[in-house]
Amino acid sequence: MIARLATLTVLALTTNAFADVAGRLEPGQGERVFLPPSEDPGLGEGVSHAGTVSKIIYLERCKGGCLITKGGLDDALTLHSTIPKGNATEFTLAEFENSAGQTGAAADAEWAEVVKCVREVYSPFAAVITDVKPVGTSYHVNVVAGVAPDLGLSSSILGISPGVSCAPVDNRITYTFANAQGGTGRNRVNHLCWTIAQETAHTYSLDHSYAFSDQSSACNDPMTYRSDCGGQKFFRNDGATCGEYQPRPCDCGASQNAHLTLLATFGPGTPLTAPPTLSVTQPAPNAQIAASTAVIATAYSQRGVKTLELWLNGYKWGTAKGAGFGADGQPESSYSIPIPAAVPDGVIDIVVKAKDDIDATTTSPTLTVTKGAPCVTEASCAAGQQCANGRCFWDAPVGVLGDECTYAQYCLSGVCQGTADKQICTEQCIVGVADSCSDPAAYECLETSPGKGVCWPKGEDTGNCLGCATSGPGGAAAAPFAFFAFGLAFVLRRRRR
Ligand SMILES: [Zn+2]
Repeated sequence: MIARLATLTVLALTTNAFADVAGRLEPGQGERVFLPPSEDPGLGEGVSHAGTVSKIIYLERCKGGCLITKGGLDDALTLHSTIPKGNATEFTLAEFENSAGQTGAAADAEWAEVVKCVREVYSPFAAVITDVKPVGTSYHVNVVAGVAPDLGLSSSILGISPGVSCAPVDNRITYTFANAQGGTGRNRVNHLCWTIAQETAHTYSLDHSYAFSDQSSACNDPMTYRSDCGGQKFFRNDGATCGEYQPRPCDCGASQNAHLTLLATFGPGTPLTAPPTLSVTQPAPNAQIAASTAVIATAYSQRGVKTLELWLNGYKWGTAKGAGFGADGQPESSYSIPIPAAVPDGVIDIVVKAKDDIDATTTSPTLTVTKGAPCVTEASCAAGQQCANGRCFWDAPVGVLGDECTYAQYCLSGVCQGTADKQICTEQCIVGVADSCSDPAAYECLETSPGKGVCWPKGEDTGNCLGCATSGPGGAAAAPFAFFAFGLAFVLRRRRR
């Protein structure tokens, strides 16, 4: 053992190319598995349920080796575990090795990176990630050491958990077989972090995520099996289907939102991930801009940029979706958001906001440009706007559901719709869903397009033409909102029952 480590140390010092340990699973290989729920023996004496689940996740590095005792119940404190297979009752897991196969102090730096990564991944929640063994309290343990055959399991396994528990359980042992994980540097750290996050989160009712609500791959969430993107993975604030290599219903519901599930389990924490970086590169400050100018910004975020927003004179006129994720996560990317043709001429204060998927937001300094001539009166502005200091702008919206309106920006919902005689601030809703309107006792959802509609006072006459008179900024043609323009094409009608 000593001889082997000494040899590997020399190799690691001479060239990184030989730093990888022979026989390890390369990044992208190997399985992270859990036992089927039917075999889950985790509920019983010594196991407590949701509400009393410990917030502590202890990462056990197994200095000098860990003695694991096969037992009928999990007990993190004594390392009694339901996972080992075979006739023996006691099993030894070898100490955590770094990418060069070294243990002890030589592996401290890589270990510290792994712990830091897991802390960042769990930081939006009030979970406590520690590698100092807790005393006098209940906790979960993820053993980050050894290889699966140490426990009588297949060598293809990188991590294992005793099944998905739809009611989170306490005092659970899960495993990350670190010494089977190949790769070097940050790549290996990211893979270990992925396995630890996934195995521990099975304890809190999370299944394997497959695809998000927009059908994009869940490859940037640690609950995934998918490898079409890499980098540091985070529990995403998005609904996901479940599945390993194809979609299926989740174990604990049709779909799952990993972020919200863990938020409900632990309560909110303080994210350790940096907010997005953002710089607006075009147009130049004080420029006279053409009618078809786009605002160009460069943005990056540790979690990935989810959305860029374009605000002009205090109103959100445009958005851009975050770039796709690649082998190293989402790269720093350039985003172009056109200034819509409906934006009135005048002086324009441009602000760009970059947001990640948990709404960490970076706001650019205000950049002032001029399009056409500064406004003199509101006559050249859009409906409902004022003109001051050469700028056309709307006051902040104040209209609540039911308030009469003449333009959409008056309404908090951004929707002003109605008949030739009466237009109100209303809301988008889903036809047939009883509480789809925020005041379901007084409002019902009237259809404007298949399945979708707007809220309207119950029983109030819509005449022959509800919806054929609507107001948008600068008239219908100027409406910058796809949903609003879309609604114009339909005459509201009561849903046939
Ligand atoms: Zn898993």
